[in-house]
Amino acid sequence: MADILVVAEIVDGIVKKPTLAAIAFARDAAKAAGGTFAILAVGAGLDAAAKELSACGASKVLVADDPYTKNYLAERFAPTVAAAAKGFGVVAFPAATSGKDLAPRVAAKLGAGYAPDISGFKAEGGKLSYKRPMYAGNAFGWMQVSTPVEVVSVRPTEFTAAEPTGGASAIEKVAVVQDDPAAGKIEFLSFDVVKSERPELTEAKVIVAGGRSVKEKFMDVLSPLADTLGAAIGASRAACDAGYCPTDLQVGQTGKVVAPTLYLAIGISGAIQHLAGMKGSKTIVAINKDPEAPIFQVSDYGLVADLFAVVPELTAAIKAAKA
Ligand SMILES: Cc1cc2nc3c(=O)[nH]c(=O)nc-3n(C[C@H](O)[C@H](O)[C@H](O)COP(=O)(O)OP(=O)(O)OC[C@H]3O[C@@H](n4cnc5c(N)ncnc54)[C@H](O)[C@@H]3O)c2cc1C
Repeated sequence: MADILVVAEIVDGIVKKPTLAAIAFARDAAKAAGGTFAILAVGAGLDAAAKELSACGASKVLVADDPYTKNYLAERFAPTVAAAAKGFGVVAFPAATSGKDLAPRVAAKLGAGYAPDISGFKAEGGKLSYKRPMYAGNAFGWMQVSTPVEVVSVRPTEFTAAEPTGGASAIEKVAVVQDDPAAGKIEFLSFDVVKSERPELTEAKVIVAGGRSVKEKFMDVLSPLADTLGAAIGASRAACDAGYCPTDLQVGQTGKVVAPTLYLAIGISGAIQHLAGMKGSKTIVAINKDPEAPIFQVSDYGLVADLFAVVPELTAAIKAAKA
């Protein structure tokens, strides 16, 4: 097989954590299939990011650093990534915010087959096969990509983030390609970030998630428990759609995929679309007043109770235990 190129996800000069999972995939897959891996950073003001990435054991770090790519716009990034990918056999993106957007565009530019959201791989005779979720995460299948170049996106929850190796890979500058007429018609205006003191949902070790049944006082009911546990707050789509909480808290097939150490599902029925986003959590605790709720089929611990009675009790008990 040919070598692997990892396309880093960098925001404001900072390497986002899902990149490290994609690097771990590339490192292990390259070793298993008999190749090497490199990392590509696209953006502006990338000196610190390039230095950080150069400690991850890659053969080299390619850097496309230009004000034209200061803010992420798929139309501006895709031509540069496609040009830098020449000579690589596999192009790997983190299956995160921009990676999911960029990967299919780059695949189209390269005429490459695309394996999205991979959660595992195996190598036989130098050829990689990819494991990925199907039917909303209800089944996992193995696939191979038959085009000369393969594009994959890597589920950050399924690969342990790569640690720095202590080495320093060579850093090479590559040109930012500005030849896509579509890119000139698109301008970055602003990025509205929801600021929170809590950990980021996709990076949190503990998540307190609520469903539709938590109702209007969603944040008031769940915040004391989340704060006591130092947890992020998540939600079902029904809770988000009802306007009880911001949509960026949604966990599931059409929301975020999470795999914390502890996931508390409070008043969540356990629809397959929700499970698709949290089934990989290490320990799942469910609180639901319906003993038949499907969430109990995936939970490690279950409490059949009214959430409005037990959530304050649980919060008080954890506080007392910590004191
Ligand atoms: C294409 C598609 C994509 C989707 N993507 C997602 C997704 O990404 N994420 C997602 O979550 N959903 C998604 N859905 C929606 C999904 O099918 C469910 O409708 C949704 O997950 C249900 O949310 P819920 O569990 O909060 O609500 P409900 O299904 O209404 O469940 C509420 C639960 O609360 C319990 N309950 C009620 N009162 C109390 C109480 N006082 N104390 C304790 N328990 C109580 C009930 O017993 C029930 O189990 C998607 C659907 C489709 C079709």
